[in-house]
Amino acid sequence: MGLLSVGEPLSWPETKSYAEYIREHGIKQFINLYNLCKTKTSEVLKFGDEIEYMILKFDDQSKKVRVSNRAIELLKILQEPEENGQDCVSLWRPEFGAYMVEGTPGQPYSMNPTPLEQYLMTANHDQQQDSYSASNNDNINMMNEHNYNAEDDDKNVEDDASMMDNNNKLTSSSSSSSSSSTPFSFVNVIEANMRLRRKQVIDLLNENETILSISPFPSLGTFDFCEPSSFVHPTYGYSRSLFFPDEAIYTGHPRFRTLANNIRERRGRNVDIYLPIFRDQNTSSPFRENFVDSLNIDPTSIDDEEKEKYEEIARERERIFRKDDHIYMDAMGFGMGCCCLQVTFQASNIDEACCLYDQLAPLCPIMMALSAASPIFRGFLSDIDCRWSVIAQSVDDRTEAEITGKSCRRIPKSRFDSIDLYISRQNVDYNDIDVVYDERYYQQMIDNQIPSSIAKHIAHLFIRDPLVIFKEKLDIDDTKESDHFENIQSTNWQTMRFKPPPLSQPEIGWRVEFRPMELQLTDRENAALVIFVVLLTRLILSFNLNLLIPMSKVEENMKVAQERDALKHKRFWFRRNISFPQNIREHLRVRRCRASKQLSHCFASCSDRSAKNIETCCVQLTIDEIINGTDIDVNDDGIHDGGFPGLIPLLNFYLDSVEIDAETRCTLNLYLRLISRRAKGELPTAAQLIRRFVIGHEDYQNDSRVSSKIVYDLLKQLDQLQTDQITLEQLITNINQHFNNKTQTKTPD
Ligand code: ADP
Ligand code: MG
Ligand code: MG
Repeated sequence: MGLLSVGEPLSWPETKSYAEYIREHGIKQFINLYNLCKTKTSEVLKFGDEIEYMILKFDDQSKKVRVSNRAIELLKILQEPEENGQDCVSLWRPEFGAYMVEGTPGQPYSMNPTPLEQYLMTANHDQQQDSYSASNNDNINMMNEHNYNAEDDDKNVEDDASMMDNNNKLTSSSSSSSSSSTPFSFVNVIEANMRLRRKQVIDLLNENETILSISPFPSLGTFDFCEPSSFVHPTYGYSRSLFFPDEAIYTGHPRFRTLANNIRERRGRNVDIYLPIFRDQNTSSPFRENFVDSLNIDPTSIDDEEKEKYEEIARERERIFRKDDHIYMDAMGFGMGCCCLQVTFQASNIDEACCLYDQLAPLCPIMMALSAASPIFRGFLSDIDCRWSVIAQSVDDRTEAEITGKSCRRIPKSRFDSIDLYISRQNVDYNDIDVVYDERYYQQMIDNQIPSSIAKHIAHLFIRDPLVIFKEKLDIDDTKESDHFENIQSTNWQTMRFKPPPLSQPEIGWRVEFRPMELQLTDRENAALVIFVVLLTRLILSFNLNLLIPMSKVEENMKVAQERDALKHKRFWFRRNISFPQNIREHLRVRRCRASKQLSHCFASCSDRSAKNIETCCVQLTIDEIINGTDIDVNDDGIHDGGFPGLIPLLNFYLDSVEIDAETRCTLNLYLRLISRRAKGELPTAAQLIRRFVIGHEDYQNDSRVSSKIVYDLLKQLDQLQTDQITLEQLITNINQHFNNKTQTKTPD
């Protein structure tokens, strides 16, 4: 959610006039915090997830679903225990949308469980026992066999909730409950915590309201999509959109509307967001939108003169901005109004943080494609499956001159985009794309003993203007606070974020945030992704794994990852040869398992970090091959170049080498199995599932348009899924049945 300062934000012209001041002090603050914290070490692995939820309201009579702009009311209640200084099982924050809330665990998880985790483990223990005992000997079918039983779960969640006071605070008896714990026992609590968070919000909802973990609201920006009904005013306000009213921006804090306003003012006009349309049998060719027809105005509440004025603006925008075969959007809310899943890790020191930052970077596009969940925007099926490019365009504050580089320095990317630089000293040879950075700040950091790779990264972030400045927070002590650094840092929304300890809280360690993942439809899938990435960090650090490929290849992968069904049809650049320390090689060599031959091949050609091999260090693999391993036969003397054992087989090797109790290992297998099935295509992505639902719906006209009735039916089903009235397997079966019926009846003609 980023930095939330308090006070009165400055106007854009005032903000601009302070831009240099903020940057100068921001750099000083970074230099101070770097030198204060550079030797700081943290003992325990800590991490925490962030999940954003959407509050929705069903209108069963008119068969319409709207976003419910009640986050401000719900947050008042959800944040109460935290404000009273109580220990909480969850923390709640506002997000861009007036209909969004963001939940995180009450404290980060750690390898040594905290009282909160002990409590959750105990609360979760019975459920896990029931769920997993039958399959101790058969992990293969776990996902099929162990879908939640809705009744049991209701009971479990109620039991969990009854151990809490005021729905969020831990009672003393619960927090002191004992439970055996080993490293990795946190895997037993992540999903339970996500379920509790959901339950906490559900308990506060009005009749016909629900909260869903979905990425974009499919009807965002269509006529009358808000509850209470709100309409646009393209001539004034923050967004000036034809489709997205300012009332859909969270009003409880000025940051969000100021961001929308200042991005628009900085670039000199509305943002423009284009998405390729999904071309179906009856989609008009070329596909051309009618902006006047799509105007989200209420004809009953505005007079004829105003209506005519707005329609004229819509016609004018259409003339200038419409692109054939593209869906058009014109407000920050279309991107930042999507929900997502993020994970932050604390490393044991700065070098480890840099290492994780670098090694996780090539995994960003892979995890994005694996988690794809965003096929519908503004009521149209698009040809992409992920929200990334929509958000990138939705907060792109660059001026025309900065984009073209005609009269000033060219800035190739939006401030929301993939990273451009690896930051560990030994990895800089892999940085092969043009990076714009501020040379003055770079030099200033070098002069103050900041390593050049980190200095370049920070000087790269500091090419941006601050977007929101609070008058009251302008004059701060650069040796005690780092708000000006955070100001720029928190409005560079990239795939990875390198998070130094805040100057005001140096007890916090060096952290990195993993930000590319799409939000999943169920807590189990969200937990699986979080756990998978956490395990990967352990694998990377324990095996000293080198997954790096040239940054330009990561960049290529980012584009591919967003394409429709990339998981199934696309190949991604991946590192060709992975090396392991000798003792691990020996350990792996003696194991009899599917991937051992492939592993021995990999040892044969150790990775070489020298620049001359960088170009040839990667190969194109499918996500299945990356996650589950390539299907190669390595004969005894031949090396089949390009093979990869697979991240899950590697994780299994790693997990076999550490001491884990049987129950925890069983739970881990459950999540790994889910990831493995997803990668194989056995478990659809949310994007695939939602597309199939739309195409199989009786009202769908094969013209790429997703009507409000289809969205209503879709979200009703997702609501049933997310409140355990149906299982994911049942939903998939239902959707496949409809899809097959419809597509088969169509085939004869
Ligand atoms: P953001 O920077 O995205 O606004 P926050 O820093 O508020 O996010 O928190 C993001 C996640 O980081 C949360 O899940 C939180 O539990 C977790 N977190 C907080 N402190 C730490 C820490 N010291 N180490 C690792 N994770 C942490
Ligand atoms: Mg957020
Ligand atoms: Mg975050």
